[in-house]
Amino acid sequence: MFSSFAFIALVVLATAVLFLLILAGARFYSPSKILCPHCRNKSLECVNWILANPPPNYSFFRCGECRAEYVQVQFEQQMIPRAGSEWEHDRGWDI
Ligand SMILES: [Zn+2]
Repeated sequence: MFSSFAFIALVVLATAVLFLLILAGARFYSPSKILCPHCRNKSLECVNWILANPPPNYSFFRCGECRAEYVQVQFEQQMIPRAGSEWEHDRGWDI
């Protein structure tokens, strides 16, 4: 009687630990969000990354809160607003 209770408790505990490990792993491996220059929330996500030929490569970002859109050229820290930039009508946004 005790052994079956201990077995069930062990299974429940192991399931809970596994669930927590999966949550921690998902949190660790999920893409990190960046501070949005417009609304100051940490909600800026990379929506596309373009391998340009000729270089430099560039990334498209969209804020999950205010929907602001930015372009970041590789090796440069500056976030360029999409509107008015040379990437304004780039098809890479439509994903
Ligand atoms: Zn924002």
